[in-house]
Amino acid sequence: MDWRTFVGHHRQRGWFANAVHQERLASTFLMVGPSGIGKRTFARLVAKSLLCTKYQPTEFATCGTCEACVQIEAGTHPDLIEIKREKDKSNLSMEQLVGSDESRMREGLCYEIRMRPYSGRRKIAIVDDVDTLAVEGANSLLKTLEEPPPGALIFLIGTSEQRQLRTIRSRSQIVRFAPLAEDELAILIQRHGLADNPADALRLAQQSHGSLQLAAQGRDESMSEFRTLLIESLDSRPIDFPRLSKSISAHLDSVASEGQARRDQLKWVLDIAIDLYRESMRQRLGVTSSLDAAIRQPSTESDAPGNLQQLAPEILSSLIQRTQQAREQVDRNVSPAALVEAWVTDVTGMSRA
Ligand SMILES: [Zn+2]
Repeated sequence: MDWRTFVGHHRQRGWFANAVHQERLASTFLMVGPSGIGKRTFARLVAKSLLCTKYQPTEFATCGTCEACVQIEAGTHPDLIEIKREKDKSNLSMEQLVGSDESRMREGLCYEIRMRPYSGRRKIAIVDDVDTLAVEGANSLLKTLEEPPPGALIFLIGTSEQRQLRTIRSRSQIVRFAPLAEDELAILIQRHGLADNPADALRLAQQSHGSLQLAAQGRDESMSEFRTLLIESLDSRPIDFPRLSKSISAHLDSVASEGQARRDQLKWVLDIAIDLYRESMRQRLGVTSSLDAAIRQPSTESDAPGNLQQLAPEILSSLIQRTQQAREQVDRNVSPAALVEAWVTDVTGMSRA
């Protein structure tokens, strides 16, 4: 991966290039934005640009062929420390941060980052899944964030600012990443073999909310079955409340028992609802953009089956607002079960009108 093939996030890229060029890079960055939009790849590219031996760091470029570039690509560069939550754990563990009980502060991220850089340049750490940082873990990081070793650079990667502990937020420079634009995502969809031609890629991109992760998911058969079921349930009159809330809970359970992945799924569910309400609103008002006519038509027919279009625009607008509100609550530590219950109750009532 290099900057020429990296897709999107131009503003952030320009900002980093400038900061590196002026040698005014902070030591800790908290990168936040939805899952599957390239934050981790971005951080690795910054690391590569700073460690590539063919270019000076201030040039902010990568050659892809020097030993450093090859090692970073392979995940073996001695100056790049990468950690993320282990699959069977619900948090980033103390072992990963400060070492096991027996060798506390003699291994783990906080220890390794204090070692002399092998390359003679700097140590860089990429910590993924910081949404899952528990208070104890965060506390163990504070000293390193407050007094970073000279030149050390730490990227903390999470999905939203609200999900981070105040102690971490206040010690980081925050960089926000937005979902990819549809045309950008379509490029990645084709590159990853998720669609065979540009039209299919764009269609999948339009349902994927700027996230490659969601695009991959959109191709999954059980996911797309659930999506169809969800759309039918939301469009039926009256809404079968127990069936709808049960099917959403079952879907969340089937995907993940753990926090972050569950929240991602719940956002996906709510995004489908928002899209459906918006599409119904467009149909109700008789608005079709040329883009819709050219590309969206096939999915439109199946996505907005009909009953919702009969509702008054004010009701559709309230449904959109209520669902957006629920989506915001996902990041505010509201329990997904309680959130689904309250949201389904409200939309059931509102759609009855
Ligand atoms: Zn290189």
